Amino acid sequence: MAGSRGPFKVIIAGGSIVGLTNALALEKAGIDFVVLEKREIAPHMGASVSVHPHVQRVLEQLGVWPEIRAGTVPLHTRHHYNQNGDLFEESAILQEISKMMRNRSTTFMERRFLLSCIYNQIQDKSRVRAQTGVASYTETDDGVEVTTDSGEVIKGDLFIGSDGIRSTVRGLIAQKIADADPAASEEMRSGFVSTYQCLFATSRNANPSAGGKPFLPDGTVHNVYYYGFSGVVAAGVSGLVFWFLFVKSGKVTTTPNTPRFTEEQTEAVIAKYGHHAVGPGYTFKDLWDSRVKAAMLPLEEGVLKPRWNTGGRVVLMGDAVHKATVNPGLGANLAVEGVVHLINELVPLVRQCDADGGRKPSKDEIVAVLDLYEKKHRPHAHTVVSMSGYVTRYEAMEFWWLRFLRVLSPWVSDKTKANTFVNYMNEGPWLNYLPNPDDEVVKS
Ligand SMILES: Cc1cc2nc3c(=O)[nH]c(=O)nc-3n(C[C@H](O)[C@H](O)[C@H](O)COP(=O)(O)OP(=O)(O)OC[C@H]3O[C@@H](n4cnc5c(N)ncnc54)[C@H](O)[C@@H]3O)c2cc1C
Repeated sequence: MAGSRGPFKVIIAGGSIVGLTNALALEKAGIDFVVLEKREIAPHMGASVSVHPHVQRVLEQLGVWPEIRAGTVPLHTRHHYNQNGDLFEESAILQEISKMMRNRSTTFMERRFLLSCIYNQIQDKSRVRAQTGVASYTETDDGVEVTTDSGEVIKGDLFIGSDGIRSTVRGLIAQKIADADPAASEEMRSGFVSTYQCLFATSRNANPSAGGKPFLPDGTVHNVYYYGFSGVVAAGVSGLVFWFLFVKSGKVTTTPNTPRFTEEQTEAVIAKYGHHAVGPGYTFKDLWDSRVKAAMLPLEEGVLKPRWNTGGRVVLMGDAVHKATVNPGLGANLAVEGVVHLINELVPLVRQCDADGGRKPSKDEIVAVLDLYEKKHRPHAHTVVSMSGYVTRYEAMEFWWLRFLRVLSPWVSDKTKANTFVNYMNEGPWLNYLPNPDDEVVKS
């Protein structure tokens, strides 16, 4: 029964896309949880995020969608520019995808907006605790105890590490297994590689060099391709644009030593690349000058090779376990798919145990659920991480054959290109304990 508090409790590290989506899905299933987020919920970092049609379907199920729909403009047109500023492809792929996906469109919004829309649907806000970092955990056959950075001990039955690419929980697991399995421990520490970096920002959709004229119309995306760097701008929210400058880094780094960039380093990138055109009549520098908030990050890539759970009650999810480059905007969407893959296995187990007189799932039953989640989700993670890496290199025209493909691209129909993407999205899961969203679409 939704809202009831069973004896089974999930502790979630990280209150971002995965943490909050897990929390809302668990609340809707009537399963107890607490989210521990070391910073604030929905911080303003200038980051943006896309929602693709198959993930919109999940957000519809969770009741999040109406607020997102009201605050965004669906993306419909994509213009591709070459290094000389020439438009070489005007693409309707987004419209083709929408037609094939029951009129669900791709949307693009501030990441903090998406997070606040999910958070707003969580009824019991006392279970989402900001400024509460996870410091350590211990697990036994009977449960798991998580210690926060203020020394508080929280007891539960399952512990989810969804605390991002620099995951504390992944680091703790690596430490614990270091003696028994040094190779797996090392993979957990250094298994993600960064070759590209990304300057990202939210800017006003008003070009300061053109008297405040919009950079691009609402619902439009501009892509620009240079040798070794590329850019994308999306007007997904009225009055704002979200943009990215992707640059091949000087050297390849691995976690935990991927760089953190200072403001000066970010400005140096703009000083170097800012004069290049992005779309007609504007440059990266124009976008920068119109910024509301900007930052720069390394783009790590990888899918964690060792098992994603401890063989006990601790499991990794989201960017903590699979990290895709940003160009096609799939990382958060993949992360939501992961939530669905886990929750669809967990809910029937907890409900069965409730029906068995209110017993708690055993450790072995929990491990079986965590292994099934990984079995279902790992192939999606591999697909998204490799496809994203390919798109990053394609847009920066890294190899001669990618440059050749770019020349061919306008000759391939939007429908054919859309099909590839739709085939992937059609495999996207939805929450099978909530009404089938496609039935709802057909009714409305
Ligand atoms: C610039 C940029 C643009 C992107 N654009 C897109 C896009 O358009 N589409 C898309 O699908 N994806 C996009 N992504 C990827 C997407 O943002 C991530 O895949 C997604 O945020 C992963 O969610 P997560 O919950 O796993 O981790 P994160 O969002 O990284 O959240 C981890 C959370 O854990 C918290 N935390 C860390 N340590 C602790 C601790 N010890 N205790 C408690 N909490 C802790 C952090 O504060 C954070 O809130 C983009 C990423 C970037 C960087």
